[in-house]
Amino acid sequence: MGWKESDLVVDLDPPDEECPICISSLQGDEVVVELSRCNHHFHHKCVTSWFRSRPSCPTCLRPYGIFTGTQPRGSMFVQTQSDWSCAGFPLHGVITINYRFPNGIQGPEHPNPGYHYKGTVRTAFLPDNEEGRDILRLLKIAWERKLVFTVGTSITTGLSNCVIWNGIHHKTQYEGTYGYPDATYLSRVRQELAALGVF
Ligand SMILES: [Zn+2]
Ligand SMILES: [Zn+2]
Repeated sequence: MGWKESDLVVDLDPPDEECPICISSLQGDEVVVELSRCNHHFHHKCVTSWFRSRPSCPTCLRPYGIFTGTQPRGSMFVQTQSDWSCAGFPLHGVITINYRFPNGIQGPEHPNPGYHYKGTVRTAFLPDNEEGRDILRLLKIAWERKLVFTVGTSITTGLSNCVIWNGIHHKTQYEGTYGYPDATYLSRVRQELAALGVF
């Protein structure tokens, strides 16, 4: 899991470019590295700090290692129904994903180890077409890698020590404000998953 030292190759003669992370010159005093697989350049301190939260090149999203998150113990339950549709996908049925987390005690990977956290129940929808089924496949990988939820402060309620979404957007209505139609949702969530190293 995670990147390896050998993924970062020190470049003693850096190009006349800006570091894409901090937008300052690569030709200053900071150590500059080239990523081994994609050859993009960054300050060493910028890219190592980036890799702490995301396992992919900031410029091209090339993965560097497998990244796992801090999602607590829970369950993911998937059903498909053919007698109704997500708005905008009238010819296809619906994939319903139910996520369920009981209350629990935070581990060392969470913001307040030893304290309680509040569980949650969430339902999300995908169109049951080829692309929707592929997104489901990726969400199952993200789930196994503990990336879909985390423990933190809820943006909607302001309450801390809750199970919350971890930045992979889900549609929690099959039509309406938090749902469909949304022509670009499936490609956006695919990019969010790719940025976490899930392909
Ligand atoms: Zn930088
Ligand atoms: Zn790159």
